Amino acid sequence: MDIVLATRNKKKVEEIRKILEAAGVSFRIFTLDDFPKCPEVEEDGDTFEKNAVKKAVQISRCTGLTAVADDSGLEVEALNGAPGVFSARYAGENADDGANCEKLLHEMKDVPSDKRKARFVCCISMAFQDNVRTFFGYVEGRIGTEPHGEKGFGYDPLFYPGGSGSTFAEMEDHEKNAISHRAGALTALQKYLKEAGGELYR
Ligand code: IMP
Repeated sequence: MDIVLATRNKKKVEEIRKILEAAGVSFRIFTLDDFPKCPEVEEDGDTFEKNAVKKAVQISRCTGLTAVADDSGLEVEALNGAPGVFSARYAGENADDGANCEKLLHEMKDVPSDKRKARFVCCISMAFQDNVRTFFGYVEGRIGTEPHGEKGFGYDPLFYPGGSGSTFAEMEDHEKNAISHRAGALTALQKYLKEAGGELYR
């Protein structure tokens, strides 16, 4: 089965590819780089699900392939779920990962260590034209007080999963990918496909 990953985020593409490969999935994976004429999809939904569904449906229509879209982000308890769907642009429209992490640390500067709970959420939608299935994955953890580690992307240098003493950015790819929100959502997708006999909508 051929799929196209509906994202231009190279780190996400790499992570999704590695997770699917580690699971032994036999998809032939394309990316938006293979379809330069596909338009940019505006992420204007107020939930992860609305954005993921919109991206998957539009990219499937445009490519004619089954499209897999990921919309994900960080929810911090002490900030009432922020940055949430605004995770990628928390510090402004064109903010980079460093600026977003800096803003998060600033917003949490007075939050004590026992109140720094957070979770990553990943919503994966798979669409063939207008038929869509959506899957969620979560990883609970806490936010540190300064960045640690160079790997990964986004808020990885600030996020300690579970009871771990290492941030996601200090872990090897395979360690993060074994427990991450993205792995959780992709595992649910694979389980669904297996039960559906591998052929989803055709
Ligand atoms: P979007 O799904 O492209 O709208 O953006 C998701 C944003 O959430 C990213 O730009 C990161 O800031 C954050 N995020 C999502 N998943 C991860 C992850 O695995 N590690 C670190 N940050 C993440």
